[in-house]
Amino acid sequence: MAKSRVAIIRTPEKPVEEEIREKVREAIEAIGGMKRFVKPGNLVIVKPNLVISMTSDTGATTDLRVSKAVVDLVREQGARAIIAESCGTGGDTEKVFRTTGYDKLRDRGYEVVDFKKIQNVEVPIPNAHVVEKVMVPELIRQADVIINIPKIKTHDQLGMSGALKNMKGGLAEKEKNRLHKEGLSQGIAEINVILRPALTVVDGIIGQEGLGPVFGEPVQMNLIIAGDDPVAVDTVLCHIMEIDPIDVPYIKLAEEKGIGTMRMDKIDLIGKKINEVKRRFKMPEEDIKKIQIPGFQLVFGEKSCTGCRNTMYSVIKDMDTKGLLEHLKGLTVLAGEIEKLPQIDKRSLVLVGACAAKNKEEGIRYAPGCPPRNYWVIEAVTGAPQQARTSDFRQKSEK
Ligand code: SF4
Repeated sequence: MAKSRVAIIRTPEKPVEEEIREKVREAIEAIGGMKRFVKPGNLVIVKPNLVISMTSDTGATTDLRVSKAVVDLVREQGARAIIAESCGTGGDTEKVFRTTGYDKLRDRGYEVVDFKKIQNVEVPIPNAHVVEKVMVPELIRQADVIINIPKIKTHDQLGMSGALKNMKGGLAEKEKNRLHKEGLSQGIAEINVILRPALTVVDGIIGQEGLGPVFGEPVQMNLIIAGDDPVAVDTVLCHIMEIDPIDVPYIKLAEEKGIGTMRMDKIDLIGKKINEVKRRFKMPEEDIKKIQIPGFQLVFGEKSCTGCRNTMYSVIKDMDTKGLLEHLKGLTVLAGEIEKLPQIDKRSLVLVGACAAKNKEEGIRYAPGCPPRNYWVIEAVTGAPQQARTSDFRQKSEK
């Protein structure tokens, strides 16, 4: 069986548009050229990561110059390219287009579409456990080819966000929350069965570390990475970020679904070597450790997965932003599966996550969910309904 191909190309420091265009072409040429993926007359959906109204220099969103370079290469093949995206849950994609400059591309003859305004169709996912059927924009189903243009960044709930995770923006709005409720990692693997990009071109010019995928710190990486297998691309991104890909469960789950390979001996790496470009990305929890709260203890069960861990890191950051950290003073928060409750005053305990439900007792506060939503945890901690749910820190970052 042919190996998956991933090309790592270095751009000049802070590249200008022409340099980006050249490097995108070089990266795609290195894995067979656009003609390998796109035929004359094809309808091609180009899917950037435009999760939130933040410019690409924050590391949160795809640089429009990368998307434009990809579209131009598609057009050279005599195909029609549409840039299409749906921003984070509850957000206004048109506003994101304006902030990131994608709206201006329309004046230059490019098609830029908000998935949220497109009619949805239901699509079955074979052998799925979390999303057996899912609503997706009709346009993405009509496409002959999908080209994915993600970022390279950390993710407060999943560890990292690259190619596979970016396809969540190709779902109908209401389906995004469903994935969070029913199993995010498994759900991401499953949606990639039906939303399967032929080509991935990573905007690795500026990545994001720390509390990604939106509130972390930008990292100048100067990379364009192209690949024909999203599992292989995410595996390579992990190695570049010095993250063990096994710690990002959806990558393995996607491999098990036959979407691609994590095995480096089955990936043909072209261009720069990982050792030449790798840089340790600070993980979300490292940002959180700086925050000191008297008497507060955060305890994870031995089997607690990254869902609860990263939710709690995100919650603390969220409460810090909202000036609510006082509420955590003297509290012990137990997240995920706990063998036995500690012998302390029940009023100072908060249980978090569906796995902790079996320890529920009268008088102990509890936040449900798998993984739990930020505002459910904050409600349990503060005892106050979180009215501004649409401005919830996590919700802003969700796709
Ligand atoms: S409730 Fe359990 S399975 Fe779900 S995110 Fe938390 S620890 Fe993981």
